[in-house]
Amino acid sequence: SRLAPAATITSVCGFCSTGCGLKIHLNDRGEAINLTADPGYPVNLGMACPKGWEALTPLVATDRATTPLLRDDASGRLVPVSWSVALAAFVQRFRSIQERSGKAAVAVLSTGQIVTEEMALLGALAKFGMGVRHLDSNTRQCMATSHVAYKQAFGFDAPPFTYADLEESDALIFIGANPCIAHPILWQRVTMNRRNPDIVVIDPRRTETAEAATLHVPLRPKSDLVLLYGLARRLIERGAVDQAFGAAHTSGFEAFAEFVAEFTVDRVVRDTGLPREMLERLVEVIATRERVSFWWTMGVNQSHEATRTAQAIINLALMTGNIGRPGTGANSITGQCNAMGSRLFGNATSLLGGYDFARREHRAHVARVLQIDPAVIPEAPGLAYDQILDAIERGEIRGLWIVATNTAHSWIGSQRFAALRERLEFLVVQDMYATTETAQLADLVLPAAGWGEKDGVIINSERRLGLVRKVARAPGEALSDFAILKLIAEGWGCGEMFRRWSSPAAVFQILKEVSRGQPCDFSGVRDYWQIEEEGGIQWPRPDMREMPNGECRGSTEEDTLEGSHSTFDDRHSSFHERRLFEDGKFFTQDGRARFFFEAPRPMPEPPDPEYPFLLMTGRGSSAQWHTGTRTNKSAVLRKLAPQQLYAEINPADAARLGVVSGGIVRVISRRGSCEALAFVTATVQRGHVFLPMHFAPANRLTFPSFDPHSRQPSYKAAAVRIEPR
Ligand code: SF4
Repeated sequence: SRLAPAATITSVCGFCSTGCGLKIHLNDRGEAINLTADPGYPVNLGMACPKGWEALTPLVATDRATTPLLRDDASGRLVPVSWSVALAAFVQRFRSIQERSGKAAVAVLSTGQIVTEEMALLGALAKFGMGVRHLDSNTRQCMATSHVAYKQAFGFDAPPFTYADLEESDALIFIGANPCIAHPILWQRVTMNRRNPDIVVIDPRRTETAEAATLHVPLRPKSDLVLLYGLARRLIERGAVDQAFGAAHTSGFEAFAEFVAEFTVDRVVRDTGLPREMLERLVEVIATRERVSFWWTMGVNQSHEATRTAQAIINLALMTGNIGRPGTGANSITGQCNAMGSRLFGNATSLLGGYDFARREHRAHVARVLQIDPAVIPEAPGLAYDQILDAIERGEIRGLWIVATNTAHSWIGSQRFAALRERLEFLVVQDMYATTETAQLADLVLPAAGWGEKDGVIINSERRLGLVRKVARAPGEALSDFAILKLIAEGWGCGEMFRRWSSPAAVFQILKEVSRGQPCDFSGVRDYWQIEEEGGIQWPRPDMREMPNGECRGSTEEDTLEGSHSTFDDRHSSFHERRLFEDGKFFTQDGRARFFFEAPRPMPEPPDPEYPFLLMTGRGSSAQWHTGTRTNKSAVLRKLAPQQLYAEINPADAARLGVVSGGIVRVISRRGSCEALAFVTATVQRGHVFLPMHFAPANRLTFPSFDPHSRQPSYKAAAVRIEPR
């Protein structure tokens, strides 16, 4: 027909970590004209959320950055310049800072939104080529906790699940997770579960998912650690512990059992505010259902005691033997489309491939694969995001390069970044848009291509490598991040180090080699086209030609690098749906999973008489993505999502304050204030207020406290007061 596309091509959505397959419709010039959800892709089975359907719209936004912009000293304005002028400024200004103040005086803030090959090149260029010591990613805001929790408990950052587990569970326990809004296609997979599952939502807020659950557990904010330890105690008392699994595959359970003995039902009831019967019902579900899966997202990860909370969830799965079987697992759902790529190949907390910066043999191994001098690899991971900002404040970091993230909106207590900006001599922002809050503060804007304008691989929550395809040309002089990084490498004088990194496809082959023998091994993936043919490929996918016994190379004497001790047998698991630990072997040195625990700590900024409400922030709509830089470009998505900052307030509080729905309230914390439309609703408990994170003013109020193990910010608990206007 006249309306039929000339061709279609499969690509993976570049918003959230679900990683849905999209069929992009092309005209006869190979340009995208439309898209539909891919019915053959194993993740989404023909479904997509509103963001996916509108994925092409942000590419044609009128405010795309189409040329480099340099701040003019005289006028103070960003003015268009050529790429050669922009690159010269980048090199000259950053080099000058490094010469005067040391290499560590230039830092990088990276992202979970670009393809893995670009992340790897950015991390390698910055740390190995430019001598940058401090590079962190915005995955610090979403996934740092899961990274640390898994690494300590399992020996590697290894989410164990496959999405089929959503359909194969008898009980799904969601903790601090709202998949109806945050991961709508995963929620659709839950609704396809035919096992009549219990669906439990542990969340202070009556979210959309809580509404749909069979049991909503509305605990007090930040009392989840007490609840989880209390559940462990009750399960032990009931004898609902899988002794055989524990004896064979875990260590440290006895100490954990001793520790949780003090978390009596009385204490749990007191600290969580939950009725005793609800606690017992939850214990009953976990104790009696054959396949129990635990799922968490930001309600856990963005907490002052996030890592131990995530590990308390892992502990429940381990002690009840709910791991490695269909429909089970301690499962962290990632946030951004390529958070997993960033965690494993971004060169931030972990050295490329999930190796350890601090271990000489790991540095030597990575240097060998990359054919570089091991001396250029730093011996420590460098500062975390918040520590980089602290170093800017102290004047130790003078230059900052931000790639595909909107720090001035999204970082906790966002007003601080605007103030810190004054401490920087040179701020470079590399982004699709020059209009973001952060780009507006830049000295230099490098215009970048977006999703759909370049090729590469992203890795979703279930460890599936998916292929992103170039289906449109970037506007004006915008270049792919990959091309920008290559130009910078040449300009910096370290182009030779990256000669082999000639294209994203070439880098993919290098990363295959880096991954070889690691738990995230994908050396058995031939090339991009195999990923496309198979509908994405989950790691591990080792090169079986080298493993006559079916064993991972990392299990041999030759490879004793930490995290390389798994064996697995492909005869027992399909390549299309793979979960980890089916053989009960974890990635620790002795193959056993570990129990981690710690005494709960009080909330850093609890409500008080002056600021009597507790502020929670989170996603407000499936049609909005983070700071809205892309989703706000779509008229469809703007229609589907609220366009004004609103505050959810409990009816009892609203009556007391004289607030009505639709009225304007001022929400005030010790750090700032904002105006919001009042939304009087029982979704929030008395004394709580919820603001969606997609509007910049909300984040002026949040309190900058951090989990000590992961350095992840705690976005979901700050003391505020509410004043009707
Ligand atoms: Fe799927 Fe997430 Fe994209 Fe929506 S945003 S289509 S759920 S990958």
